Amino acid sequence: MDTILVVNAGSSSVKFQVFAVEGEGRLQRQIKGQMDGIGSRPRLRASGPNGDPMADRAYPIEAVADVPAAMAVAGAWLREENSINPIAVGHRVVHGGPDYSRPVLIDHGVVSRLERFVSLAPLHQPHNLAPIKTLLNTRPNLPQVACFDTGFHRDHDALADYYAIPHQLHTEGVRRYGFHGLSYEYIARRLPEVAPDIAAGRVIVAHLGSGASMSAIKDGKSVESTMGFTALDGLAMGTRPGQIDPGVVLYLISEKGMSATNVQNFLYRECGLKGLSGVSNDMRELETSEDPRAAFAIDYFVYRVGLNAGMLAAALQGLDAFVFTAGIGENSATLRARIAQKLAWLGVAIDPAENARHATRISRSESRIPVYVVPTDEERMIAQHTLALLMNQQSPSQHRARVS
Ligand code: AMP
Repeated sequence: MDTILVVNAGSSSVKFQVFAVEGEGRLQRQIKGQMDGIGSRPRLRASGPNGDPMADRAYPIEAVADVPAAMAVAGAWLREENSINPIAVGHRVVHGGPDYSRPVLIDHGVVSRLERFVSLAPLHQPHNLAPIKTLLNTRPNLPQVACFDTGFHRDHDALADYYAIPHQLHTEGVRRYGFHGLSYEYIARRLPEVAPDIAAGRVIVAHLGSGASMSAIKDGKSVESTMGFTALDGLAMGTRPGQIDPGVVLYLISEKGMSATNVQNFLYRECGLKGLSGVSNDMRELETSEDPRAAFAIDYFVYRVGLNAGMLAAALQGLDAFVFTAGIGENSATLRARIAQKLAWLGVAIDPAENARHATRISRSESRIPVYVVPTDEERMIAQHTLALLMNQQSPSQHRARVS
């Protein structure tokens, strides 16, 4: 069986999925797993296609001290206990910089170019690149593909791509990149099946998870995003503030004496729903909390989604549909209903019964703007890109012959 391994490596966890390649390039998910607690309390957990548990093991800290070690342990488990010998590996890479708008087959030259973007995403890029470098050394003939969170937004008009700062900084890469691109691309590809009438129209997709952003999509292509240079901008998130006056950062430095590293940790880890509520970064906990600050954090989140929807509708010069996705967007009927109220002026009217049962279309038939819930699947998008790049080269079985 030909399989594709998808890897999403962070600072303390490596998530992976295995897809079987079936007839006509169909992809069937076989295994979903993750090694977390890297360098602290390593634990490998994995489940099969129906969520049936396949592994749940703790490891001593010295056995899984870093991301390459985690890859080695997870790789051995896949190979030796599950006979998985993938024909290619697709990686989530947060930053493709100004150059990469499409997934790319990885070689040493590509890694060098991607290392240049470490400074643009210091918390993510080095961890994304670590397993790539390990595999390049240990399995040089195994094709690897980098899929970028920024890629889907790279065709934005210059007006959406610039900050009002001197051109030289733009040339150096200080631009409005936008993120969650793999999620948006997956949704854009699903829309012709889910909602053929509006798939070519003007759509706002709200990716509301622990990281949250919204994208304005026209005819299946991204034209604007709430995120910019980094994944800090736009909506308030679990631990990130979203849009914030840069003067606040100056205040933290000049009045609070914070260093760049302190400010970075503060903005990525201590703000957003967590900072506002003082209760949790997790929407489920906020929804069940009786602390008034939790309620305020939810109000703030809903308010900012509404504000940003107005901005994106202006970028699209109108609106034909609104789509919810990711953890909060897919699962919280309450949040969806509250956000829909903020969009009533645009012509949104939710059907409470359809919303409560998480139907695909949750708006009333008379709603001027139809509203959908479309579960996202970034890993499948990565697997699709990886397979497509491989197929462009040669057939998977030819490839296996060359690799083994
Ligand atoms: P993600 O990053 O896409 O996995 O989304 C994680 C976020 O989704 C967290 O804030 C969770 O609390 C939230 N979430 C997941 N399920 C629910 C739910 N049933 N109701 C409210 N929020 C949820």
